[in-house]
Amino acid sequence: MVDLNGQYQSIKEQVNSSISQILDSSTYINGPQVHAFQKELETYLNVKHVIPCANGTDALQIAMMGLGLQPGDEVITADFTFAATVEVIALLRLTPVLVDVNPDDFNINIEAIEKAITPKTKAIVPVHLFGQCANMDEVMRIAEKHNLFVIEDNAQAIGADYTFANGEIKKAGTIGHVGSTSFFPSKNLGCYGDGGAIFTNDDKLAHTLRGIVNHGMYERYHHDVVGVNSRLDSIQAAVLSAKLPKLDEYCEKRRVAAKKYTAAFKGQQHIIVPETINSKGEDVYKNHVFHQYTLKITNGKRDALVKHLNENGIPCGVYYPIPLHNQKAYADSRYNELDFVVTNQLVKEVISLPMHTELDDEQIDFITNTIIEFVNN
Ligand SMILES: *Cc1c(COP(=O)(O)O)cnc(C)c1O
Repeated sequence: MVDLNGQYQSIKEQVNSSISQILDSSTYINGPQVHAFQKELETYLNVKHVIPCANGTDALQIAMMGLGLQPGDEVITADFTFAATVEVIALLRLTPVLVDVNPDDFNINIEAIEKAITPKTKAIVPVHLFGQCANMDEVMRIAEKHNLFVIEDNAQAIGADYTFANGEIKKAGTIGHVGSTSFFPSKNLGCYGDGGAIFTNDDKLAHTLRGIVNHGMYERYHHDVVGVNSRLDSIQAAVLSAKLPKLDEYCEKRRVAAKKYTAAFKGQQHIIVPETINSKGEDVYKNHVFHQYTLKITNGKRDALVKHLNENGIPCGVYYPIPLHNQKAYADSRYNELDFVVTNQLVKEVISLPMHTELDDEQIDFITNTIIEFVNN
């Protein structure tokens, strides 16, 4: 699905020399590399504060802790996402409120958010799924109207731009009150272990978050709040510093591969390519960073196709096979199946194809030809 070694070869010298420098100086934790990367990411994202942490799940949890959300507060998020999003809500004893998504861009559905709001609602967590932003004009409008926090789960869309209806452009993850991301190796900006970060333009919140990641300490051995231990280590920061200047190029390579896939599937009746047209009818390829390239197979052959691709040595993935509201850990009698028509359908139709910066034309031809032939027979 990804080719991490191919990417490593192009930054090998820089990565190896930074890592050996860290080994020589033994500054494994909190080395100068961490602060340097923090500053570089702040500049890239045009955000006031980046708070590095240990992984993307922690980033979400710490963001929610920093906002002071309390047990019983309702937090609305998408039913169709990776479980980490809902996991941290439940872990903090907040009440997850899962809502349906759009059939075209797979992102949280605006009407469904509005329908789910109650006097207990405190936050919305839009997930920029597969590398494309949720409708942030509408999410921010609803949040303002109901006085809610917006926490962007940007684990899959780092580097994506969001263009507002008024033409303003912001980086994904810097639009809400707080944003989070993951540097898991296979993410668009991945390190060589675990890593994550939180973003905010709010000085006070940033200060709170910096304490929470470090055992609730704002002064050494003074623990003012209950915190956690969540650090990005120096080696991961050095890897990320080598990759960040290439992130736009990585995103562009993914877009080029996506365009080739889409062109190859043109005219296919049972294969629906990912939607990249926004509500204004504009092509948002320039925004989509294709963490995943996800098709919908509409003639019931998705599962058979997965098997066929596996047999032919073509990696593929089903993200995600089970709606979160049907997962044992998150099922709740409050949910009504009729409210999840889209997610219930998507889990049967979606399939994600290999997507990375090293895909070549020959691979794309082999993958698309194999799929087209199988789906139509
Ligand atoms: C990967 C991912 C996370 C979690 O990131 P980790 O670094 O693996 O903890 C959270 N949300 C989404 C949508 C993700 O894809």
